Amino acid sequence: MTALEVPRSEVAVEEIPCRLCGAAARFIFRQTVLRRWDAGYYQCGGCDLIQTSEPAWLGEAYTSAIAAMDTGAIARNRLTGELTHAVAWALGIKAEARCLDYGGGHGVFTRMMRDRGYNFWTCDRYAENIFARGFDADAGEHFALVTAFEVLEHLNDVRTELKNLFSGQPDAVLISTQLHRGHEPNWWYYAPETGQHVAFYSSRTMRHIAEQFGYITAGSRAYTLFVRREAAIAPWRVRIAQRLVAKSKGNATHAWVRTALTLAPKLSTRTVSDNQAVKLMRL
Ligand SMILES: [Zn+2]
Repeated sequence: MTALEVPRSEVAVEEIPCRLCGAAARFIFRQTVLRRWDAGYYQCGGCDLIQTSEPAWLGEAYTSAIAAMDTGAIARNRLTGELTHAVAWALGIKAEARCLDYGGGHGVFTRMMRDRGYNFWTCDRYAENIFARGFDADAGEHFALVTAFEVLEHLNDVRTELKNLFSGQPDAVLISTQLHRGHEPNWWYYAPETGQHVAFYSSRTMRHIAEQFGYITAGSRAYTLFVRREAAIAPWRVRIAQRLVAKSKGNATHAWVRTALTLAPKLSTRTVSDNQAVKLMRL
């Protein structure tokens, strides 16, 4: 196909089955993705998820040239690292408790959390683990905390991926994805220039997900925290963690999070002990 040919296939469809809940998702608008693909956007009447038409362009969306546009990757890891540390402290998660970074990419966040003293592991089917080698885990195991930052908006088969994310019944799940408040024309988070964002959630979608998997949810427009209803976490701890997340935006560490970090006891870093462990693994 040449760059001038615009694939139009299923965009004319009025309705598609929602990739999260299966209810009817109605056509709301169309736009060009990656400068040549005609994409339809559909909003679900059941769970409120906005999703693109079947994204045939995904292979093209994940080229290294597109990834090079993401200059905020490390700054984001620092921000989310501070929030995760504060939330883990609020929830009473101990240094030994196993935690997982779902969709952990090259393992930067996992390495940073291990440097902070937490027992973080990573899983990502689509990226090579470079910085946290030896610390790969499966989402089916039980974890005290699962994080998934800038992951959910990339999911095509939303229902299957979320089932996998929640499959080990983690006590808490902290995610970042920018929530929609209904369709707004030219919303930056659609990011049609990259083609990578194909699912957009609202607070209603998050409540739907929480109910499906047995969790309570709270958060801001940038971050959402799920806490398992049956988890043995004191309600006052949950309330503090929820407030920390609700106060947090995507671009700066909130004063409450900074305060929490000053109150949290310093944990022993795993930087050196991991080095010894990895030597023994003979990777
Ligand atoms: Zn739906």
